[in-house]
Amino acid sequence: MQSNLWNVITSSARTTCLYQQRLPAALLQHRKYSTTHEADIVVIGSGPGGYVAAIKASQLGMKTVCIEKGATFGGTCLNVGCIPSKALLHNSHYYHMAHSGEFAKRGVLMDNVKLDLAKLMVTKETAVKGLTGGIAMLFKKNNIKSIHGHGTITGKNQVTTKKSDGSTEVVNAKNILIATGSEVTPFPGITIDEQTIVSSTGALSLAAIPKKLIVIGGGVIGLELGSVWKRLGSEVIAVEFLTSIGGVGIDMEVSKSFQKILEKQGLKFKLGTKVTGATKSGTTIKVNVEDVKSPDKKETLDCDVLLVCVGRRPYTENLGLENVGIEKDQRGRIPVNGKFQTVVPSIYAIGDCIHGPMLAHKAEDEGIVCVEGIKGGPVHIDYNCVPSVIYTHPEVGWVGKTEEDLKSEGVQYKIGKFPFMANSRAKTNNDADGFVKVLSDKNTDRILGTHIIGSAAGELINEAVLAQEYGASAEDVARVCHAHPTCSEALREAAVAAYFGKPINF
Ligand code: FAD
Ligand code: NAD
Repeated sequence: MQSNLWNVITSSARTTCLYQQRLPAALLQHRKYSTTHEADIVVIGSGPGGYVAAIKASQLGMKTVCIEKGATFGGTCLNVGCIPSKALLHNSHYYHMAHSGEFAKRGVLMDNVKLDLAKLMVTKETAVKGLTGGIAMLFKKNNIKSIHGHGTITGKNQVTTKKSDGSTEVVNAKNILIATGSEVTPFPGITIDEQTIVSSTGALSLAAIPKKLIVIGGGVIGLELGSVWKRLGSEVIAVEFLTSIGGVGIDMEVSKSFQKILEKQGLKFKLGTKVTGATKSGTTIKVNVEDVKSPDKKETLDCDVLLVCVGRRPYTENLGLENVGIEKDQRGRIPVNGKFQTVVPSIYAIGDCIHGPMLAHKAEDEGIVCVEGIKGGPVHIDYNCVPSVIYTHPEVGWVGKTEEDLKSEGVQYKIGKFPFMANSRAKTNNDADGFVKVLSDKNTDRILGTHIIGSAAGELINEAVLAQEYGASAEDVARVCHAHPTCSEALREAAVAAYFGKPINF
Protein backbone atom coordinates (compact mmCIF):
# COMPACT_ATOMS: atom_id res chain seq x y z
CA MET A 1 0.00 0.00 0.00
CA GLN A 2 1.25 3.51 -0.79
CA SER A 3 2.02 5.91 2.04
CA ASN A 4 -0.14 8.86 3.11
CA LEU A 5 1.92 11.38 1.18
CA TRP A 6 1.39 9.36 -1.95
CA ASN A 7 -2.34 9.66 -1.35
CA VAL A 8 -2.30 13.45 -0.98
CA ILE A 9 -0.63 13.95 -4.34
CA THR A 10 -3.30 14.63 -6.94
CA SER A 11 -4.14 11.65 -9.10
CA SER A 12 -2.93 13.40 -12.26
CA ALA A 13 0.43 14.10 -10.63
CA ARG A 14 0.60 10.46 -9.60
CA THR A 15 -0.09 9.38 -13.13
CA THR A 16 2.58 11.74 -14.41
CA CYS A 17 5.06 10.43 -11.87
CA LEU A 18 4.36 6.84 -12.78
CA TYR A 19 4.38 7.62 -16.48
CA GLN A 20 7.67 9.48 -16.28
CA GLN A 21 9.07 6.95 -13.80
CA ARG A 22 10.30 9.74 -11.59
CA LEU A 23 9.03 11.05 -8.25
CA PRO A 24 8.70 14.63 -6.98
CA ALA A 25 11.40 15.69 -4.50
CA ALA A 26 9.05 15.72 -1.49
CA LEU A 27 7.90 12.20 -2.17
CA LEU A 28 11.44 11.01 -2.76
CA GLN A 29 12.41 12.42 0.60
CA HIS A 30 9.33 10.92 2.21
CA ARG A 31 10.11 7.54 0.68
CA LYS A 32 13.61 7.75 2.06
CA TYR A 33 12.37 8.42 5.56
CA SER A 34 9.15 6.44 5.62
CA THR A 35 8.55 2.75 6.08
CA THR A 36 5.26 0.92 5.81
CA HIS A 37 4.26 -2.23 7.67
CA GLU A 38 1.25 -4.50 7.46
CA ALA A 39 -0.11 -6.05 10.66
CA ASP A 40 -3.11 -7.78 12.19
CA ILE A 41 -2.97 -5.45 15.20
CA VAL A 42 -1.08 -2.31 16.10
CA VAL A 43 -0.97 -1.40 19.80
CA ILE A 44 -0.31 2.24 20.72
CA GLY A 45 1.43 2.35 24.12
CA SER A 46 3.54 -0.24 25.94
CA GLY A 47 2.31 0.23 29.52
CA PRO A 48 0.93 -2.77 31.41
CA GLY A 49 -2.19 -2.61 29.23
CA GLY A 50 -0.42 -2.29 25.88
CA TYR A 51 2.58 -4.60 26.29
CA VAL A 52 0.51 -7.42 27.79
CA ALA A 53 -2.08 -7.07 25.01
CA ALA A 54 0.68 -7.14 22.38
CA ILE A 55 2.15 -10.36 23.81
CA LYS A 56 -1.27 -12.03 24.04
CA ALA A 57 -2.10 -10.97 20.45
CA SER A 58 1.13 -12.43 19.17
CA GLN A 59 0.60 -15.64 21.17
CA LEU A 60 -2.81 -15.91 19.50
CA GLY A 61 -1.14 -15.79 16.10
CA MET A 62 -1.67 -12.15 15.17
CA LYS A 63 1.06 -10.21 13.40
CA THR A 64 1.64 -7.53 16.05
CA VAL A 65 3.26 -4.10 16.16
CA CYS A 66 3.61 -2.03 19.34
CA ILE A 67 4.35 1.71 19.22
CA GLU A 68 5.88 3.49 22.24
CA LYS A 69 6.76 7.18 22.43
CA GLY A 70 8.91 6.80 25.54
CA ALA A 71 12.56 5.75 25.49
CA THR A 72 11.75 2.50 27.31
CA PHE A 73 8.79 0.13 27.37
CA GLY A 74 6.50 -0.31 30.38
CA GLY A 75 4.58 2.97 30.51
CA THR A 76 3.76 4.81 33.70
CA CYS A 77 3.72 1.63 35.77
CA LEU A 78 7.25 0.46 35.16
CA ASN A 79 8.98 3.79 34.57
CA VAL A 80 7.40 6.31 36.94
CA GLY A 81 4.64 4.48 38.81
CA CYS A 82 4.13 1.11 40.48
CA ILE A 83 7.69 -0.18 40.23
CA PRO A 84 9.85 2.78 41.31
CA SER A 85 7.37 3.71 44.06
CA LYS A 86 7.42 0.15 45.43
CA ALA A 87 11.23 0.09 45.35
CA LEU A 88 11.31 3.26 47.45
CA LEU A 89 8.58 2.02 49.77
CA HIS A 90 10.34 -1.29 50.36
CA ASN A 91 13.79 0.12 51.03
CA SER A 92 12.67 3.17 53.00
CA HIS A 93 10.84 0.71 55.29
CA TYR A 94 14.13 -1.11 55.96
CA TYR A 95 15.83 2.21 56.73
CA HIS A 96 12.99 3.18 59.04
CA MET A 97 13.23 -0.18 60.86
CA ALA A 98 16.96 0.26 61.35
CA HIS A 99 16.90 3.95 62.16
CA SER A 100 13.87 4.06 64.43
CA GLY A 101 15.16 1.32 66.73
CA GLU A 102 12.65 -1.29 65.46
CA PHE A 103 15.51 -3.69 64.63
CA ALA A 104 17.16 -2.95 67.97
CA LYS A 105 13.93 -3.93 69.74
CA ARG A 106 14.33 -7.35 68.12
CA GLY A 107 17.94 -7.72 69.17
CA VAL A 108 19.46 -6.65 65.86
CA LEU A 109 21.86 -3.92 66.88
CA MET A 110 23.60 -1.59 64.51
CA ASP A 111 25.53 1.58 65.17
CA ASN A 112 25.58 4.75 63.23
CA VAL A 113 22.74 3.97 60.81
CA LYS A 114 22.96 6.38 57.89
CA LEU A 115 21.07 6.85 54.68
CA ASP A 116 22.72 6.90 51.26
CA LEU A 117 19.91 8.51 49.27
CA ALA A 118 21.82 8.25 45.98
CA LYS A 119 22.22 4.49 46.47
CA LEU A 120 18.55 4.12 47.38
CA MET A 121 17.76 5.79 44.05
CA VAL A 122 20.20 3.55 42.17
CA THR A 123 18.46 0.48 43.61
CA LYS A 124 15.16 1.87 42.37
CA GLU A 125 16.60 2.61 38.92
CA THR A 126 18.09 -0.89 38.71
CA ALA A 127 14.65 -2.39 39.30
CA VAL A 128 13.12 -0.14 36.63
CA LYS A 129 15.88 -0.87 34.13
CA GLY A 130 15.66 -4.62 34.66
CA LEU A 131 11.90 -4.75 34.22
CA THR A 132 11.60 -2.34 31.28
CA GLY A 133 14.45 -4.21 29.55
CA GLY A 134 12.56 -7.42 30.28
CA ILE A 135 9.68 -6.22 28.09
CA ALA A 136 12.08 -5.62 25.20
CA MET A 137 13.18 -9.24 25.55
CA LEU A 138 9.60 -10.48 25.75
CA PHE A 139 8.76 -8.56 22.57
CA LYS A 140 11.70 -10.20 20.82
CA LYS A 141 10.76 -13.65 22.11
CA ASN A 142 7.16 -13.18 20.94
CA ASN A 143 8.14 -11.79 17.55
CA ILE A 144 6.53 -8.41 18.17
CA LYS A 145 7.71 -5.53 16.00
CA SER A 146 8.23 -2.42 18.13
CA ILE A 147 8.48 1.15 16.92
CA HIS A 148 9.73 4.01 19.08
CA GLY A 149 7.96 7.29 18.39
CA HIS A 150 4.66 9.11 18.77
CA GLY A 151 1.80 7.24 17.11
CA THR A 152 -1.11 9.07 15.52
CA ILE A 153 -4.19 7.41 14.07
CA THR A 154 -4.27 8.47 10.42
CA GLY A 155 -7.04 6.19 9.25
CA LYS A 156 -9.49 3.58 10.51
CA ASN A 157 -6.82 0.96 9.88
CA GLN A 158 -3.68 3.07 9.94
CA VAL A 159 -1.28 4.50 12.54
CA THR A 160 1.60 6.78 11.59
CA THR A 161 4.54 7.05 13.97
CA LYS A 162 6.73 10.10 14.02
CA LYS A 163 10.19 9.13 15.18
CA SER A 164 12.80 11.30 16.92
CA ASP A 165 14.94 11.53 13.73
CA GLY A 166 12.00 13.07 11.86
CA SER A 167 11.19 9.96 9.85
CA THR A 168 7.83 8.23 9.93
CA GLU A 169 6.66 4.64 10.00
CA VAL A 170 3.19 3.75 8.81
CA VAL A 171 1.40 0.65 10.04
CA ASN A 172 -1.65 -0.55 8.16
CA ALA A 173 -3.46 -2.92 10.48
CA LYS A 174 -6.74 -4.81 10.62
CA ASN A 175 -7.11 -3.65 14.24
CA ILE A 176 -5.82 -0.73 16.28
CA LEU A 177 -5.59 -0.95 20.08
CA ILE A 178 -5.21 2.34 21.99
CA ALA A 179 -3.39 1.86 25.31
CA THR A 180 -2.03 5.36 25.79
CA GLY A 181 -2.64 5.54 29.55
CA SER A 182 -2.83 8.63 31.68
CA GLU A 183 -0.91 11.65 32.90
CA VAL A 184 -0.82 13.76 36.07
CA THR A 185 -3.85 16.01 36.49
CA PRO A 186 -2.45 19.55 36.68
CA PHE A 187 -3.44 21.86 39.51
CA PRO A 188 -4.70 25.17 38.07
CA GLY A 189 -2.24 27.96 38.93
CA ILE A 190 0.49 25.68 40.31
CA THR A 191 3.38 25.05 37.93
CA ILE A 192 5.14 21.74 38.41
CA ASP A 193 8.91 22.10 37.94
CA GLU A 194 9.72 18.55 39.20
CA GLN A 195 12.39 20.07 41.49
CA THR A 196 10.55 21.61 44.44
CA ILE A 197 6.98 21.60 43.13
CA VAL A 198 6.68 18.03 42.01
CA SER A 199 4.26 15.47 40.65
CA SER A 200 4.70 11.80 41.60
CA THR A 201 7.44 11.61 38.94
CA GLY A 202 9.61 14.26 40.65
CA ALA A 203 8.78 12.86 44.09
CA LEU A 204 10.29 9.53 43.03
CA SER A 205 13.65 11.17 42.34
CA LEU A 206 14.23 14.01 44.82
CA ALA A 207 17.94 14.79 45.15
CA ALA A 208 17.70 15.61 48.86
CA ILE A 209 15.34 14.83 51.70
CA PRO A 210 12.86 17.70 52.10
CA LYS A 211 12.70 19.27 55.55
CA LYS A 212 9.02 19.77 55.13
CA LEU A 213 6.91 18.15 52.44
CA ILE A 214 3.32 19.16 51.81
CA VAL A 215 1.24 16.71 49.83
CA ILE A 216 -1.90 17.94 48.06
CA GLY A 217 -4.27 14.98 48.23
CA GLY A 218 -4.48 12.18 50.80
CA GLY A 219 -5.19 9.59 48.08
CA VAL A 220 -3.03 6.65 47.06
CA ILE A 221 0.01 8.58 45.80
CA GLY A 222 -0.06 11.05 48.71
CA LEU A 223 -0.02 8.22 51.26
CA GLU A 224 2.56 6.03 49.51
CA LEU A 225 5.05 8.75 48.62
CA GLY A 226 4.27 10.71 51.81
CA SER A 227 5.23 7.54 53.74
CA VAL A 228 8.49 7.18 51.79
CA TRP A 229 9.69 10.70 52.60
CA LYS A 230 8.42 10.59 56.19
CA ARG A 231 10.47 7.43 56.77
CA LEU A 232 13.51 9.08 55.24
CA GLY A 233 13.24 12.04 57.60
CA SER A 234 10.84 14.68 56.23
CA GLU A 235 8.03 16.29 58.14
CA VAL A 236 5.01 15.40 55.99
CA ILE A 237 1.60 17.06 55.97
CA ALA A 238 -1.12 15.75 53.65
CA VAL A 239 -3.87 18.24 52.86
CA GLU A 240 -7.02 16.41 51.79
CA PHE A 241 -10.29 17.84 50.53
CA LEU A 242 -12.33 14.91 51.89
CA THR A 243 -12.74 14.09 55.58
CA SER A 244 -11.09 10.69 55.11
CA ILE A 245 -7.87 9.33 53.60
CA GLY A 246 -7.18 6.57 51.06
CA GLY A 247 -9.08 7.84 48.03
CA VAL A 248 -12.11 6.38 46.32
CA GLY A 249 -13.43 2.92 47.28
CA ILE A 250 -11.78 2.46 50.68
CA ASP A 251 -14.01 1.18 53.51
CA MET A 252 -14.49 3.95 56.07
CA GLU A 253 -13.66 1.80 59.09
CA VAL A 254 -10.39 0.84 57.41
CA SER A 255 -9.71 4.45 56.46
CA LYS A 256 -10.11 5.64 60.07
CA SER A 257 -7.86 2.90 61.43
CA PHE A 258 -5.33 3.60 58.64
CA GLN A 259 -5.24 7.29 59.53
CA LYS A 260 -4.56 6.54 63.21
CA ILE A 261 -1.73 4.15 62.33
CA LEU A 262 -0.11 6.61 59.91
CA GLU A 263 -0.46 9.43 62.46
CA LYS A 264 1.37 7.22 64.99
CA GLN A 265 4.15 6.99 62.38
CA GLY A 266 4.30 10.79 62.32
CA LEU A 267 2.35 11.70 59.18
CA LYS A 268 0.11 14.71 59.70
CA PHE A 269 -3.25 15.22 58.02
CA LYS A 270 -5.35 18.28 57.36
CA LEU A 271 -8.65 16.79 56.32
CA GLY A 272 -11.72 18.59 55.01
CA THR A 273 -9.22 21.16 53.75
CA LYS A 274 -8.83 22.41 50.23
CA VAL A 275 -5.62 23.70 48.69
CA THR A 276 -6.48 26.82 46.69
CA GLY A 277 -3.04 27.78 45.39
CA ALA A 278 0.68 27.94 46.04
CA THR A 279 3.46 30.42 45.42
CA LYS A 280 7.22 30.17 45.55
CA SER A 281 9.15 32.68 47.62
CA GLY A 282 12.88 31.91 47.51
CA THR A 283 13.31 28.37 48.74
CA THR A 284 9.98 28.41 50.55
CA ILE A 285 6.68 27.39 48.99
CA LYS A 286 3.61 28.98 50.48
CA VAL A 287 0.52 26.82 50.21
CA ASN A 288 -2.88 28.44 50.62
CA VAL A 289 -5.57 26.26 52.13
CA GLU A 290 -9.14 26.75 53.28
CA ASP A 291 -11.64 24.77 55.29
CA VAL A 292 -14.06 23.01 52.95
CA LYS A 293 -17.09 23.64 55.20
CA SER A 294 -16.13 27.18 56.27
CA PRO A 295 -14.18 28.73 53.38
CA ASP A 296 -13.57 31.84 55.51
CA LYS A 297 -11.16 29.78 57.58
CA LYS A 298 -8.01 30.24 55.53
CA GLU A 299 -4.40 29.43 56.33
CA THR A 300 -1.01 29.57 54.64
CA LEU A 301 1.36 26.64 55.16
CA ASP A 302 5.08 26.65 54.37
CA CYS A 303 7.16 23.84 52.92
CA ASP A 304 10.32 23.30 50.89
CA VAL A 305 8.80 20.64 48.61
CA LEU A 306 5.20 20.47 47.41
CA LEU A 307 3.82 17.24 45.95
CA VAL A 308 0.77 17.66 43.73
CA CYS A 309 -1.19 14.40 43.56
CA VAL A 310 -4.83 15.22 42.96
CA GLY A 311 -5.44 12.40 40.49
CA ARG A 312 -4.57 11.42 36.94
CA ARG A 313 -6.35 12.03 33.63
CA PRO A 314 -6.44 10.05 30.38
CA TYR A 315 -3.63 10.80 27.93
CA THR A 316 -4.75 11.15 24.33
CA GLU A 317 -2.53 14.02 23.16
CA ASN A 318 -2.04 14.18 19.37
CA LEU A 319 -3.51 10.71 19.02
CA GLY A 320 -5.60 11.60 15.99
CA LEU A 321 -8.97 10.55 17.45
CA GLU A 322 -10.58 13.40 15.52
CA ASN A 323 -9.24 11.92 12.25
CA VAL A 324 -11.59 8.96 12.66
CA GLY A 325 -14.51 10.60 14.50
CA ILE A 326 -13.87 9.28 18.04
CA GLU A 327 -15.15 11.77 20.62
CA LYS A 328 -13.94 11.70 24.24
CA ASP A 329 -16.34 11.80 27.19
CA GLN A 330 -16.52 14.69 29.69
CA ARG A 331 -13.56 13.31 31.65
CA GLY A 332 -11.38 12.95 28.57
CA ARG A 333 -11.81 9.16 28.41
CA ILE A 334 -12.30 7.17 25.22
CA PRO A 335 -15.78 5.63 25.23
CA VAL A 336 -15.83 1.88 24.48
CA ASN A 337 -18.45 -0.87 24.42
CA GLY A 338 -18.32 -4.21 26.28
CA LYS A 339 -15.71 -5.49 23.81
CA PHE A 340 -13.50 -2.41 24.35
CA GLN A 341 -14.46 -1.28 20.86
CA THR A 342 -14.74 2.44 20.12
CA VAL A 343 -17.32 3.88 17.73
CA VAL A 344 -14.96 2.76 14.97
CA PRO A 345 -15.25 -1.06 14.96
CA SER A 346 -11.58 -1.62 14.02
CA ILE A 347 -10.31 0.60 16.87
CA TYR A 348 -10.24 -0.60 20.50
CA ALA A 349 -9.10 1.08 23.75
CA ILE A 350 -8.10 -0.23 27.20
CA GLY A 351 -6.44 0.82 30.47
CA ASP A 352 -6.17 4.26 32.04
CA CYS A 353 -7.48 6.02 28.92
CA ILE A 354 -10.96 4.44 29.32
CA HIS A 355 -13.45 4.22 32.21
CA GLY A 356 -12.73 2.42 35.49
CA PRO A 357 -10.02 2.46 38.13
CA MET A 358 -6.56 3.55 36.98
CA LEU A 359 -4.70 0.41 37.98
CA ALA A 360 -2.03 -1.62 36.22
CA HIS A 361 -3.71 -5.00 36.74
CA LYS A 362 -7.02 -3.65 35.44
CA ALA A 363 -5.23 -2.44 32.28
CA GLU A 364 -3.52 -5.84 31.85
CA ASP A 365 -6.73 -7.82 32.20
CA GLU A 366 -8.53 -5.55 29.74
CA GLY A 367 -5.66 -5.95 27.26
CA ILE A 368 -5.86 -9.73 27.40
CA VAL A 369 -9.64 -10.10 27.07
CA CYS A 370 -9.78 -7.39 24.41
CA VAL A 371 -7.44 -9.25 22.05
CA GLU A 372 -9.07 -12.58 22.90
CA GLY A 373 -12.35 -10.92 21.87
CA ILE A 374 -10.83 -9.77 18.57
CA LYS A 375 -9.97 -13.44 17.91
CA GLY A 376 -13.59 -14.38 18.61
CA GLY A 377 -13.35 -15.26 22.32
CA PRO A 378 -15.67 -14.07 25.10
CA VAL A 379 -14.97 -10.66 26.65
CA HIS A 380 -15.83 -10.25 30.31
CA ILE A 381 -14.34 -8.51 33.34
CA ASP A 382 -16.11 -8.30 36.69
CA TYR A 383 -14.92 -4.89 37.88
CA ASN A 384 -16.28 -5.69 41.34
CA CYS A 385 -13.48 -8.27 41.55
CA VAL A 386 -10.63 -5.87 40.72
CA PRO A 387 -8.58 -5.42 43.92
CA SER A 388 -7.01 -2.22 45.21
CA VAL A 389 -3.86 -2.05 47.31
CA ILE A 390 -2.08 0.82 49.03
CA TYR A 391 1.51 -0.22 49.66
CA THR A 392 2.20 1.66 52.88
CA HIS A 393 3.12 -0.07 56.12
CA PRO A 394 0.79 -1.61 57.03
CA GLU A 395 -0.64 -2.20 53.57
CA VAL A 396 -4.30 -1.76 52.81
CA GLY A 397 -6.07 -4.06 50.36
CA TRP A 398 -9.67 -4.46 49.40
CA VAL A 399 -12.01 -6.03 46.88
CA GLY A 400 -15.75 -5.82 46.33
CA LYS A 401 -18.26 -3.82 48.31
CA THR A 402 -17.59 -1.61 51.31
CA GLU A 403 -20.04 -1.39 54.20
CA GLU A 404 -21.03 2.04 52.86
CA ASP A 405 -21.85 0.50 49.44
CA LEU A 406 -23.97 -2.25 50.98
CA LYS A 407 -25.89 0.19 53.18
CA SER A 408 -26.63 2.49 50.26
CA GLU A 409 -27.69 -0.50 48.10
CA GLY A 410 -29.96 -1.78 50.92
CA VAL A 411 -28.22 -5.18 51.03
CA GLN A 412 -28.44 -7.11 54.30
CA TYR A 413 -24.98 -8.25 55.27
CA LYS A 414 -22.92 -9.92 57.97
CA ILE A 415 -19.49 -8.78 59.17
CA GLY A 416 -16.68 -11.10 60.15
CA LYS A 417 -13.67 -9.36 61.64
CA PHE A 418 -10.36 -10.61 62.92
CA PRO A 419 -7.50 -8.49 64.31
CA PHE A 420 -3.87 -9.25 63.42
CA MET A 421 -3.14 -8.86 67.16
CA ALA A 422 -4.75 -12.29 67.53
CA ASN A 423 -2.91 -13.85 64.56
CA SER A 424 0.05 -15.92 65.69
CA ARG A 425 2.32 -15.03 62.76
CA ALA A 426 1.66 -11.28 62.89
CA LYS A 427 2.25 -11.33 66.66
CA THR A 428 5.43 -13.38 66.26
CA ASN A 429 6.64 -10.90 63.69
CA ASN A 430 5.79 -8.06 66.08
CA ASP A 431 3.87 -6.56 63.18
CA ALA A 432 0.27 -6.84 64.26
CA ASP A 433 -1.42 -3.54 63.36
CA GLY A 434 -4.72 -3.89 61.51
CA PHE A 435 -7.49 -6.39 60.86
CA VAL A 436 -9.38 -8.35 58.23
CA LYS A 437 -13.04 -7.65 57.60
CA VAL A 438 -15.18 -9.97 55.49
CA LEU A 439 -18.63 -8.80 54.41
CA SER A 440 -21.06 -11.51 53.34
CA ASP A 441 -24.70 -11.67 52.31
CA LYS A 442 -26.89 -12.21 55.36
CA ASN A 443 -29.15 -14.66 53.54
CA THR A 444 -26.80 -16.57 51.23
CA ASP A 445 -23.42 -16.17 53.04
CA ARG A 446 -21.87 -15.22 49.67
CA ILE A 447 -18.80 -13.00 50.13
CA LEU A 448 -19.53 -9.46 48.93
CA GLY A 449 -16.38 -7.63 49.99
CA THR A 450 -13.10 -8.09 51.87
CA HIS A 451 -11.07 -5.31 53.48
CA ILE A 452 -7.64 -5.83 54.96
CA ILE A 453 -5.28 -3.50 56.76
CA GLY A 454 -2.11 -5.32 57.74
CA SER A 455 1.48 -5.74 56.65
CA ALA A 456 0.70 -8.54 54.15
CA ALA A 457 -2.60 -7.10 52.86
CA GLY A 458 -1.35 -6.74 49.27
CA GLU A 459 -0.71 -10.49 49.04
CA LEU A 460 -3.63 -11.67 51.20
CA ILE A 461 -6.22 -9.76 49.21
CA ASN A 462 -5.66 -12.02 46.22
CA GLU A 463 -7.13 -14.99 48.11
CA ALA A 464 -10.22 -12.89 48.74
CA VAL A 465 -10.35 -11.94 45.03
CA LEU A 466 -10.21 -15.59 44.03
CA ALA A 467 -12.99 -16.45 46.49
CA GLN A 468 -15.16 -13.60 45.24
CA GLU A 469 -14.54 -14.39 41.55
CA TYR A 470 -15.76 -17.94 42.16
CA GLY A 471 -18.78 -16.79 44.16
CA ALA A 472 -17.53 -18.40 47.38
CA SER A 473 -19.46 -18.19 50.63
CA ALA A 474 -17.73 -17.16 53.86
CA GLU A 475 -18.09 -20.79 54.98
CA ASP A 476 -16.25 -21.96 51.83
CA VAL A 477 -13.20 -19.90 52.78
CA ALA A 478 -13.55 -20.82 56.45
CA ARG A 479 -13.39 -24.53 55.61
CA VAL A 480 -10.25 -24.27 53.46
CA CYS A 481 -7.15 -25.47 55.31
CA HIS A 482 -4.64 -22.60 55.70
CA ALA A 483 -0.97 -23.12 56.52
CA HIS A 484 0.11 -22.27 60.06
CA PRO A 485 1.56 -19.91 61.14
CA THR A 486 0.63 -17.45 58.38
CA CYS A 487 -1.11 -14.09 58.24
CA SER A 488 -3.62 -15.68 55.86
CA GLU A 489 -5.12 -17.47 58.85
CA ALA A 490 -6.53 -14.05 59.84
CA LEU A 491 -8.53 -14.03 56.59
CA ARG A 492 -9.82 -17.51 57.35
CA GLU A 493 -10.76 -16.46 60.89
CA ALA A 494 -12.63 -13.40 59.56
CA ALA A 495 -14.53 -15.73 57.22
CA VAL A 496 -15.31 -18.03 60.18
CA ALA A 497 -16.58 -14.98 62.09
CA ALA A 498 -18.76 -13.96 59.12
CA TYR A 499 -20.50 -17.30 58.67
CA PHE A 500 -20.48 -18.70 62.23
CA GLY A 501 -20.54 -15.50 64.28
CA LYS A 502 -17.32 -16.17 66.24
CA PRO A 503 -13.72 -16.87 65.25
CA ILE A 504 -11.62 -19.46 67.13
CA ASN A 505 -8.68 -17.39 68.32
CA PHE A 506 -10.32 -14.16 69.42
P1 FAD B 1 0.43 3.63 30.90
O1 FAD B 1 1.17 2.78 31.85
O2 FAD B 1 0.28 5.07 31.23
O3 FAD B 1 1.15 3.45 29.50
C1 FAD B 1 0.79 4.18 28.37
C2 FAD B 1 1.97 4.21 27.44
O4 FAD B 1 1.56 4.74 26.19
C3 FAD B 1 3.12 5.11 27.91
O5 FAD B 1 4.32 4.40 27.86
C4 FAD B 1 3.13 6.27 26.90
O6 FAD B 1 4.42 6.79 26.68
C5 FAD B 1 2.56 5.60 25.68
N1 FAD B 1 1.91 6.51 24.74
C6 FAD B 1 0.94 7.42 25.00
N2 FAD B 1 0.53 8.02 23.88
C7 FAD B 1 1.27 7.49 22.88
C8 FAD B 1 1.33 7.71 21.49
N3 FAD B 1 0.49 8.55 20.88
N4 FAD B 1 2.25 7.02 20.76
C9 FAD B 1 3.08 6.12 21.35
N5 FAD B 1 3.05 5.87 22.67
C10 FAD B 1 2.16 6.54 23.42
N6 FAD B 1 -1.22 0.91 39.66
C11 FAD B 1 -1.24 -0.28 40.30
O7 FAD B 1 -2.04 -1.15 39.92
N7 FAD B 1 -0.41 -0.56 41.35
C12 FAD B 1 0.47 0.35 41.81
O8 FAD B 1 1.21 0.08 42.75
C13 FAD B 1 0.53 1.62 41.18
N8 FAD B 1 1.40 2.55 41.59
C14 FAD B 1 1.45 3.76 40.94
C15 FAD B 1 2.35 4.72 41.41
C16 FAD B 1 2.43 5.95 40.78
C17 FAD B 1 3.39 6.97 41.30
C18 FAD B 1 1.62 6.20 39.64
C19 FAD B 1 1.73 7.51 38.93
C20 FAD B 1 0.73 5.26 39.17
C21 FAD B 1 0.63 4.04 39.82
N9 FAD B 1 -0.28 3.06 39.42
C22 FAD B 1 -0.34 1.86 40.08
C23 FAD B 1 -1.17 3.25 38.26
C24 FAD B 1 -0.60 2.53 37.02
O9 FAD B 1 0.70 3.01 36.76
C25 FAD B 1 -1.50 2.76 35.82
O10 FAD B 1 -2.83 2.40 36.14
C26 FAD B 1 -1.03 1.91 34.65
O11 FAD B 1 0.29 2.22 34.29
C27 FAD B 1 -1.96 2.11 33.44
O12 FAD B 1 -1.51 1.32 32.38
P2 FAD B 1 -1.79 1.71 30.85
O13 FAD B 1 -1.14 0.64 30.06
O14 FAD B 1 -3.22 1.98 30.67
O15 FAD B 1 -1.05 3.10 30.63
P1 NAD C 1 -6.38 9.93 44.09
O1 NAD C 1 -7.61 10.12 43.32
O2 NAD C 1 -6.12 8.61 44.74
O3 NAD C 1 -6.28 11.02 45.26
C1 NAD C 1 -6.34 12.40 45.02
C2 NAD C 1 -6.88 13.08 46.25
O4 NAD C 1 -6.69 14.47 46.10
C3 NAD C 1 -8.38 12.85 46.46
O5 NAD C 1 -8.59 12.23 47.71
C4 NAD C 1 -8.97 14.25 46.38
O6 NAD C 1 -10.04 14.45 47.29
C5 NAD C 1 -7.77 15.13 46.74
N1 NAD C 1 -7.83 16.50 46.23
C6 NAD C 1 -8.17 16.90 44.99
N2 NAD C 1 -8.10 18.26 44.90
C7 NAD C 1 -7.70 18.72 46.10
C8 NAD C 1 -7.43 20.02 46.64
N3 NAD C 1 -7.57 21.12 45.91
N4 NAD C 1 -7.06 20.12 47.93
C9 NAD C 1 -6.92 19.00 48.70
N5 NAD C 1 -7.15 17.77 48.24
C10 NAD C 1 -7.52 17.60 46.96
O7 NAD C 1 -5.19 10.31 43.08
P2 NAD C 1 -3.63 10.13 43.18
O8 NAD C 1 -3.21 9.82 44.57
O9 NAD C 1 -3.05 11.28 42.47
O10 NAD C 1 -3.40 8.82 42.31
C11 NAD C 1 -3.74 8.84 40.90
C12 NAD C 1 -4.08 7.48 40.39
O11 NAD C 1 -2.95 6.62 40.37
C13 NAD C 1 -5.13 6.82 41.21
O12 NAD C 1 -6.25 6.65 40.38
C14 NAD C 1 -4.60 5.49 41.59
O13 NAD C 1 -5.48 4.48 41.24
C15 NAD C 1 -3.31 5.33 40.81
N6 NAD C 1 -2.29 4.84 41.76
C16 NAD C 1 -2.45 3.59 42.27
C17 NAD C 1 -1.55 3.12 43.21
C18 NAD C 1 -1.75 1.75 43.77
O14 NAD C 1 -2.53 1.00 43.20
N7 NAD C 1 -1.10 1.39 44.86
C19 NAD C 1 -0.50 3.90 43.63
C20 NAD C 1 -0.38 5.18 43.10
C21 NAD C 1 -1.28 5.63 42.15
